Amino acid sequence: MKREFDLKGVQPAHGEIAEVASGLFWARLPIPYPPMEVNIYIVESAGGWTLIDTGMSADMTREAWDLLLQGALKGFKFGRIISTHHHPDHIGLADWLSERLEADVWTTAGALSAFKRDTNIYGPEAEAAIERFCMAHGLNEDAQYALKRQPNSFLSRVEVDVSRLKLLSLDKPVTLGIGTFDLMTADGHAAGQLIMRDRAGQYFFSADQILPGVVSKLAFDPLDSGADTAGAYVSSLEDIEAWVEESALILPGHFPPFRGLSARIAEIRERQIRRGARLMGAFGAEPLQVGQVLGVLSGREPQGKEIAFALAETFANINNLVSQGRLVWQGDGARMMLAPA
Ligand SMILES: [Zn+2]
Repeated sequence: MKREFDLKGVQPAHGEIAEVASGLFWARLPIPYPPMEVNIYIVESAGGWTLIDTGMSADMTREAWDLLLQGALKGFKFGRIISTHHHPDHIGLADWLSERLEADVWTTAGALSAFKRDTNIYGPEAEAAIERFCMAHGLNEDAQYALKRQPNSFLSRVEVDVSRLKLLSLDKPVTLGIGTFDLMTADGHAAGQLIMRDRAGQYFFSADQILPGVVSKLAFDPLDSGADTAGAYVSSLEDIEAWVEESALILPGHFPPFRGLSARIAEIRERQIRRGARLMGAFGAEPLQVGQVLGVLSGREPQGKEIAFALAETFANINNLVSQGRLVWQGDGARMMLAPA
C-alpha cells in the first residue's frame, strides 16, 4: 500500500511506503531494540531504484522486508544499495538484500573500517586491555562483561561480507531523480557516516547525525577510550549548518522526515552543553573515578543493557570536557581519577 506523505505525522505502517516526493519513498522497518525502527528510502535513479539503508539482521526486520517486496515494492528494479553507516540497523541486511534486489551495496571507506573494527572479536590481548581499562576507571564486572561482548552482539545482528562492499568516493556526486547529491562524512556517532545533500537545497539525507526527537548516541571504543567523539559530533553540526540549505527536507535514519535544520541543530547543541554541565556538576573538591559518575547523565546507576550506552555517553562527554580543559586526568594509568581543572 502506498500512502501520501505529510509532515504532520502520518507514518507508513510496516509493509507500506510513503511517497515523500515524486521518485522518493520512505518506509519504516522494525528493529528489536530502541529506537525500535529504522528508516529506509527508495529513490528513483537512472540505473534502477537506489535503496538507502538496509535494516538489521533480525527476523522482524526480514519479515517487514518480505511484506514490502511482495507488496509496495513488487516489481521495483534496484540499481544500488547505499548504506549510510556501519551500524547493524543501517547495514545489517547487506548480503540478504543484495541477493534479493540483485544490487551491490555501497558505503564509505570510513564506514568499512569502522565495521571491521567493531566486529573484530576480542582476543586475549584485547580482553586483558579491557580488564586493565575497567580496573583503572573503577568500572565493575558488569561493565567489563558489557564491553567484552560488544563485538559478538554486533556480529549477531549483521550479515555482511565485507569483501563484497563497494566504496563510494566522497568527491563523486550521487545522481538521483530528485537531484544531484554531494557526499560528506559526519563523525561522532559512527565513523565515516555518510550524509548527502542535493545541490538545489531541497533534500538532506542526514543518516543518524541529525534526528528529530532524540539525539544520536556517541561512539565509544574501549580500546581507544580517549577519543573526543562528543567534540567530533558537535563540530560536524557546524559543517552541516554551512553545507545544507535551511529549506531542505531532512530525511533522517530514524523517525519522520522534517524541516528546520538550524532550530534542530541549536537544540542538539544546547543539550550537549547541558550534559557537559551536568557531568561537571558531579565533581567537587575530591577527584572521582569514571565508575563513580557513570549514573550522572541518566540520573541512575545503569543496569544490564544500559551499561554499554552509559559508558559511551560518559566517556565521550568526559573526553570532551578534558579537551575543553575543564577536567583533567590524574593517576598513573593503573588507577585513573578525574578532577576539575
Ligand atoms: Zn541508526
